[in-house]
Amino acid sequence: MKTLHCEIDSDGVALITLDDASKPMNVVSADFIDEFIAVIEQVAGDAAIKGAIVTSGKPHFMAGADLNYILGVLGSALTLKQAYEFSQKPSAMHRRLESCGKPFVAALNGLALGGGFELALACHHRVIVDDAKAIVGLPEVTVGLLPGSGGTQRLARMIGVEKSLPILLEGKTVGPSEALKLGLVDRVVPAETLLAAAREWILGTPNPVRLWDHKGYRGNNGLLNPSIVEIMSYRPAQIAAQTQRNYPAPIAILDCLFEGTLLPFDRALKLESKHFARLMCDSVARNLIRTTFVNKREAGKLRRPPQVPKSTVTKLGVIGAGLMGSGIAYVAAAAGMQVVLLDRRLELAVDGRQYSVKLLEKAVQRGKSTQKDAEAILSRITPSADYKDLAACELVIEAVFEDMGVKAEVTAAAEAAIAGTALFASNTSTLPITDLAAASARPGQFIGLHFFSPVERMPLVEVIMGKNTSEETLAKSLDFVAQLRMTPILVNDARGFYTSRVFQTFIHEAMKMLEDGVEPAFIENAARGAGFPMGPLALLDEVSIELPWKIVQQTKEALGAAFVKPCAYGVMQRMLNEIKRLGRRSGGGFYDYPVDAPKRLWTGLAIAFPPELEQPSLQSLERRFLYIQALETARCMEEGVILQAADADVGALLAWGFPTWTGGPLSLIDTVGIAKFTAECEGLAKAHGVRYLPSPWLRERAARGQPFYETPAQAGKAPAPCAA
Ligand code: NAD
Repeated sequence: MKTLHCEIDSDGVALITLDDASKPMNVVSADFIDEFIAVIEQVAGDAAIKGAIVTSGKPHFMAGADLNYILGVLGSALTLKQAYEFSQKPSAMHRRLESCGKPFVAALNGLALGGGFELALACHHRVIVDDAKAIVGLPEVTVGLLPGSGGTQRLARMIGVEKSLPILLEGKTVGPSEALKLGLVDRVVPAETLLAAAREWILGTPNPVRLWDHKGYRGNNGLLNPSIVEIMSYRPAQIAAQTQRNYPAPIAILDCLFEGTLLPFDRALKLESKHFARLMCDSVARNLIRTTFVNKREAGKLRRPPQVPKSTVTKLGVIGAGLMGSGIAYVAAAAGMQVVLLDRRLELAVDGRQYSVKLLEKAVQRGKSTQKDAEAILSRITPSADYKDLAACELVIEAVFEDMGVKAEVTAAAEAAIAGTALFASNTSTLPITDLAAASARPGQFIGLHFFSPVERMPLVEVIMGKNTSEETLAKSLDFVAQLRMTPILVNDARGFYTSRVFQTFIHEAMKMLEDGVEPAFIENAARGAGFPMGPLALLDEVSIELPWKIVQQTKEALGAAFVKPCAYGVMQRMLNEIKRLGRRSGGGFYDYPVDAPKRLWTGLAIAFPPELEQPSLQSLERRFLYIQALETARCMEEGVILQAADADVGALLAWGFPTWTGGPLSLIDTVGIAKFTAECEGLAKAHGVRYLPSPWLRERAARGQPFYETPAQAGKAPAPCAA
């Protein structure tokens, strides 16, 4: 067998060891299900076998489903019936395990999540190793699904509906002691006695029967008690408000709990499979899994030139100890690198190091770091004003003022101090990398590494290739980003690169809506309704309207006669020059910021931009926010600014919070259907302006029906649903 092996000892106890040699972690895959069904039948059918222990040959018990496998199935245009059968096979497997007449014990030697923990729940008894890393839980909701192999039903019957809610709806995971308290496991034991404890239980419990299989079972833990009924009466509305109805999984989980716990167990399992099938046939699960798990994990790997040997940065130079430089120094030191943090004067560099001091003080206070670790991180950051200190750095990143002249000056000074093999990177947010590299004596070793603010909370780096950046520099830069445990997206040099360019369309569209007479509160609510974390007018106030205005002015200067005014030009000009409300830091912008109350939309907006009597529909505004950004992303693909749909989607989610349920702007186009999307954009262009006009490239792509992601079905490699 490929995924497990089974040995029977002299007492007749079968030891089933999960150990998939092809994977670092045991996962639920088609092979695993087939092999586990076979081993259950072996245990059930052999009179000499008294019972079975299920454990793992790897450091962890089992993670959830193999997400690549699930993604393959989700991409294969499943019918509801196929999706139901897909879910029923492992569900029936677990049911057979618990009703086959022989005792099964899960000996959890490490983490057991998702499908792995569902298997443990199906066993008659659970023993877990006393190790904080051995967490258990059912986090399927985070990938847009639910535990569809009996997990919702067993959990609710074992620990009650109320205690199940955080585990199922929030994907909360718990360590061994809390798992014991909650009733998720039966015993916590030291690692060396794990198997002995499991064996002891089997030999003492020859014919266990699950609670719900006892005659006359009418529900446990107050399934029908009034407090549960009360929870069920407000929780759906609460979830709808939290998720803006963009995520169907939490509501489906509630349905499984409420309806399922009123049904006999076997009917409840069927109900759970039906809900699971619906989620599988919805685009949200596919989009979530593809972008936030598979593509995020693969980011950077696919495009890393394989011929370049793997590299590590032991010493990093950071020039400019302001907001960004200080953040970069912190994350690099936290990842184990020595860091020289250099500024014009030593006291500025020392100030920059204080950023790390403050972050680490908070981390220690909150128990997220120990004093010893915090001191070790700080000891790795050396403030300096002397370029000679950069001598041993393999990589230097500049984060000085956004000014060509200043950047050219520090590039030359750094290159004079560092080794000929060292790389130089710019953290510029707007200046073309190729132009900045003109100040370098070795443009092949010059690259853009665009971090986001605050660096320690934004785990994305836009890696920008200049015209002359070498493949070796790219490979080494991707290795550096991996060392930071951040996600890279690869971008070619172009105005605004990728993230700033598409993000601008979001805030510009909001300002255009305001000018067109849409109520400001409606604009903010529509963006949040579509799934953006913050309203665009509030966002504009945070960054200050000066920033997008500066970008527009730079573009105007660079493009000369070819410059086209963006749709928000008039609003920006008025807010800056006439109304003079720039944003939060300057006392107010689209919002007022009273000292003793929460911010509120500035009432003067109604006079400056009078709202129309008749307002557009909420859906039409949501669609405009999503479509304008998707269209700009498609233009970035067309122009080769972005090379892979995966980079575009991962970048959009991580950089500016494009709604996760869509999977990203290109996943959104694929979900709508490229032909329908293009046709709808043509309609929007008629109503709102040429910025919505799809390019001939996109129209041709739509005519060919060519999506941005080739589904497994189209590639002719759709895996068959695993049901027989
Ligand atoms: P900042 O003004 O906070 O810091 C700039 C630092 O550079 C200051 O400490 C300054 O003393 C130092 N500096 C200036 N000239 C120098 C010189 N000749 N030698 C050494 N040090 C010098 O700016 P910031 O917000 O950290 O931005 C830095 C860079 O990062 C800019 O290129 C900016 O576009 C880019 N960026 C900023 C953000 C952001 O959100 N702030 C995000 C991404 C990228």
